[in-house]
Amino acid sequence: MRKSVIAIVGRPNVGKSTIFNRLVGERISIVEDTPGVTRDRIYAEAEWLTSTFNIIDTGGIEIGDEPLLVQMRAQAQVAIDEADVIVFMVNGRDGITGADEEVAKLLFKSNKPVVLAVNKVDNPEMRENIYEFYSLGFGEPFPISGTHGLGLGDLLDEVVKHFPEQIQEEIDDDTIRFSLIGRPNVGKSSLVNSLLGQERVIVSDIAGTTRDAVDTPFTKDGRDYVIIDTAGMRKRGKVYESTEKYSIMRALKAIERSDVVLTLIDADTGIQEQDKKIAGYAHEAGKAVVIVVNKWDTLDTDEKTMKEFEDKVRDNFRFLDYAPIVYLSAKTKKRIHTLLPRVLEVSENHAKRVQTNLLNEVIMDALAMNPSPSIKGQKLKIFYAAQVSVKPPSFVVFVNEPELMHFTYERFLENRIREAFGFEGTPIKIFARKRS
Ligand code: GDP
Ligand code: GDP
Repeated sequence: MRKSVIAIVGRPNVGKSTIFNRLVGERISIVEDTPGVTRDRIYAEAEWLTSTFNIIDTGGIEIGDEPLLVQMRAQAQVAIDEADVIVFMVNGRDGITGADEEVAKLLFKSNKPVVLAVNKVDNPEMRENIYEFYSLGFGEPFPISGTHGLGLGDLLDEVVKHFPEQIQEEIDDDTIRFSLIGRPNVGKSSLVNSLLGQERVIVSDIAGTTRDAVDTPFTKDGRDYVIIDTAGMRKRGKVYESTEKYSIMRALKAIERSDVVLTLIDADTGIQEQDKKIAGYAHEAGKAVVIVVNKWDTLDTDEKTMKEFEDKVRDNFRFLDYAPIVYLSAKTKKRIHTLLPRVLEVSENHAKRVQTNLLNEVIMDALAMNPSPSIKGQKLKIFYAAQVSVKPPSFVVFVNEPELMHFTYERFLENRIREAFGFEGTPIKIFARKRS
């Protein structure tokens, strides 16, 4: 199932970011706790009642030094292209401005539902200010205050009404859904083309029948795959599509819908800061990951080069120590046949369930080998463990006192579980719970 997407548009300073931060709330800080990963947030998950949705702050998409009008048009276009529902935000203290009218014109032409939010209505006396906004032509204006957090419930009630019916995607469960991420020019679209151009790859011609025609389904060796957001990788040209924040947003959207994420590195230019940032998104999302070192044809390669490159990758992507590395050339197709078998393998590991009795044997053996540490004279006791979910595999360990489960001990248990069951390519999660 795909989550609905809301985009907030409006001229600068009406309060878009303020509302975005309020709606997204503490999630942002949770994400930023991950070491080594910082992110310019314009795209995040939020919740209202029983709905979970994604929200875009289009105000965060800035295009060089372009004039205001160009920026606003581009931002409105992002909303029209990417969102299911658009929140058009205006400022209740300023009344309607020419810039608001410009945005309104663009939104009118789109066929997307638009909900009009009048921000900075900080007290009840100011509610009268909203009536003039009826003339923008988007129906009832919803008064809100970002500063005081007022009116957001009513606004969201209205927004949620316009979410599309959730249709189960017409793809069965055995299908492996994967996306390709990486900075511009690492070779994402070349790799898609090479993969689809391989022998015995059968590309299904069902564009238009699926909900999301941007995805490409294909079959290889009897397995069904879908490349998520193929169109997004190929599309070029519109000004905003070349901005970094937009491409990050697009990548996050694709990652979310994938089981496996291929994170591409360019062997020619080597590893750069941006590569780490992008790879961090896949890790955070709990997806299976394959690291693909592309443009392998540009190096004079032998066994030694591969080892050297691997050391560099491992050193730079410590948080992805579970991910296998594939070296290939999208251009010459060298070693390209090594990729899909890895994708298949990591996707199976991502969905793997282990037997509870075996899991407990492994945990108890680990405990015997490396007794749990004591903290302030209290010793961690482990009673029992169980796998509670897959994608990614997640385990609950019942203990006497969760606070005694130190990070390093958790890491030790994770490694034992990995050695015993082979979870290559997938993150795994361990939660300590107090036995009640
Ligand atoms: P954006 O450019 O549309 O993203 O606007 P910002 O979120 O950056 O807000 C612009 C300014 O308006 C900031 O100084 C905010 O503190 C202020 N602001 C945002 N929401 C409100 C509100 O509800 N009431 C008042 N009085 N000020 C607000
Ligand atoms: P994207 O921006 O990540 O989609 O990258 P593209 O697929 O557009 O590739 C960017 C450039 O790198 C193009 O000029 C490609 O021809 C080139 N390229 C892609 N893969 C390879 C490769 O394996 N080897 C070499 N030498 N060049 C490649």
